[in-house]
Amino acid sequence: METPTPKVIKGLVKFHLGVMISYSTALHGKNLAVCERRGSPQDIYKMMHCYLHMVEQYVEYVEEHIEKGKWARVFVPRHRYNLDTSNSVKSMNNVFKEAWRCALIPMLDCIIRTFSDWFNQHRKDVASGSVETKLVPLVENYLHDLWAVARTLPVRELNSYELEYEITSNDGNMYLASLVTKSCSCKVWDYEKFPCLHGLAAYIYYTKDVDGGVGRRRDIQIVYHELCSRYYWAEMWALAYSRTLYVVSDRSSWNLPDHIKEFQIIPPD
Ligand SMILES: [Zn+2]
Repeated sequence: METPTPKVIKGLVKFHLGVMISYSTALHGKNLAVCERRGSPQDIYKMMHCYLHMVEQYVEYVEEHIEKGKWARVFVPRHRYNLDTSNSVKSMNNVFKEAWRCALIPMLDCIIRTFSDWFNQHRKDVASGSVETKLVPLVENYLHDLWAVARTLPVRELNSYELEYEITSNDGNMYLASLVTKSCSCKVWDYEKFPCLHGLAAYIYYTKDVDGGVGRRRDIQIVYHELCSRYYWAEMWALAYSRTLYVVSDRSSWNLPDHIKEFQIIPPD
């Protein structure tokens, strides 16, 4: 909630009522008005536990099914989220910049509403994609753009059984990529979990004689989208956003157990 500064309030009172007031009177009046509008911190914090109880009713599975590794950075076993979590939190802070100005419960409402909108939007995005497209648009477009360059790079097969290739990039550097372990010596594929330029060049080389390759490992037939982590597959994307997120209903319809109503949280000073 955007509120005018005491200095602005002083000007408004002077303009509309022709009365000069002090800075502290303007500040005091502003705080009173904000309390009136938002409720006092005591009132808001008193409702806090009730509100969380209601949130819990909607998302009971959070406590039961979501292990620490999915929300606490130190427990995340994957590479990407170990590296990226701080940036994601900063992005979230930016998205909810306006919501931080609200009181506690309206802020939580705003966060739930935004997530609900995102889920709905991503469901629509998945439905709008072509059936043939197996990858999420971000990766599909990235690989599409990379393809034109990748197909021109010189590739040398090192091991037809382990599908290891040596790729020479445009700047003359050599890279080693493996289609079996889905990794490249530049490490981009290893961390991003979708192929780098060299990995894609190796794959293009591999597809050229996939049926007639002599001495090639027979139990492996790699299709394009299998070069990427399943997290970038369109079907996994659809699954991630398949649930509908409902906002918490109006306070008048809450059915709260007594032990929740009695719970007290004291606001910070
Ligand atoms: Zn690479």
